[in-house]
Amino acid sequence: MSTIAENIAKVGVRIREAAQASQRDFSHIGLLAVSKTKPADAIREAFAAGVTDFGENYLQEALDKQTQLSDLPVVWHFIGPIQSNKTKPIAEHFAWVHSVDRLKIAERLSAQRPAHLPALNICLQVNVSGEASKSGCSPDQLSALAHAVTQLPNLRLRGLMTIPEPTDDVTEQRAAFARLRELQQSLNLDLDTLSMGMSHDLEAAIAEGATWVRIGTALFGARDYSNS
Ligand SMILES: *Cc1c(COP(=O)(O)O)cnc(C)c1O
Repeated sequence: MSTIAENIAKVGVRIREAAQASQRDFSHIGLLAVSKTKPADAIREAFAAGVTDFGENYLQEALDKQTQLSDLPVVWHFIGPIQSNKTKPIAEHFAWVHSVDRLKIAERLSAQRPAHLPALNICLQVNVSGEASKSGCSPDQLSALAHAVTQLPNLRLRGLMTIPEPTDDVTEQRAAFARLRELQQSLNLDLDTLSMGMSHDLEAAIAEGATWVRIGTALFGARDYSNS
């Protein structure tokens, strides 16, 4: 087995054990492999080991890899910050966007979604930790944003996403993820997705209801940003 295949198996065990610990069905928890900064060959290896969904943060890098991997039926998710002049290629080349945090971006994605493609799946990114530097709408803004997004014809609002402040304290991890779940429930919309949990906190996220865990380092190893 390749290292990546071994890592996928280990993460699969972590997901299964976390699901079991909270009496959840592990088939309701998707593994989104976060492949930013990693080469197309790493995605190819992960795909061969059974992973179908990949998350990318940087548009040009993602488009380059999509070209190199056009022979594979990969499901592409955009999970990075979105500038409004980049919405068109995102609307054209992804199945999901997890990082929508303002209406202007959602409106542009809907208007630019090609007619021959199904509705673009959307998660609204919420800043549950209140750090000034992080992207995501504030909990106060969420309800108005969510209800407006449900009115856009070419988007399908699926749920919420968050990247909490990193902490090793499991109680704090769970509190942040519980907050996202409660915010989702308070919207009273028909939503089925909570995109939360990364390599270091996937167990806490699953305990609080994650349906996508977004895993990079635990699958592909540490990232090297020195070339970017
Ligand atoms: C990089 C990234 C991840 C993966 O983080 P790891 O700690 O490497 O698992 C998940 N979600 C988002 C939005 C990211 O940017």
